Amino acid sequence: MNLGMGCTYDCSYCFLQGYLNVHGIIIPYNIDDYLVDDKIVASTKGFFNYNRIGSGEFTDSLIFDDLTNFSKKIINYFKHKKNIYFEFKTKSTNIHTLLSCGGTENIVIAWSVNAKK
Ligand code: SF4
Repeated sequence: MNLGMGCTYDCSYCFLQGYLNVHGIIIPYNIDDYLVDDKIVASTKGFFNYNRIGSGEFTDSLIFDDLTNFSKKIINYFKHKKNIYFEFKTKSTNIHTLLSCGGTENIVIAWSVNAKK
């Protein structure tokens, strides 16, 4: 699930450095259009031996979450879909919205380690 294109963390090793051909950040306005049962079911077919939807490929999953509140929409949707795992991939401490949503076992938050700088 694409929560944006571009990332201001700008990690030197990130594939986005060579992949993107625009310097701006693009954030979708309409993720509600994707959080629809038919589309979600179609997205989870055939890739894994369990139902999984990831995010964080084209931007950090939480870097803009204080602006977008995407984590709230996503968790509120998937907490009622216990057979589907949703994954946020992040380096961010921008977790205020995330924490306010409460936990549910099918939401996975994956942090990778940052250098101090
Ligand atoms: S935080 Fe992730 S998406 Fe952002 S630049 Fe670093 S590796 Fe790329």
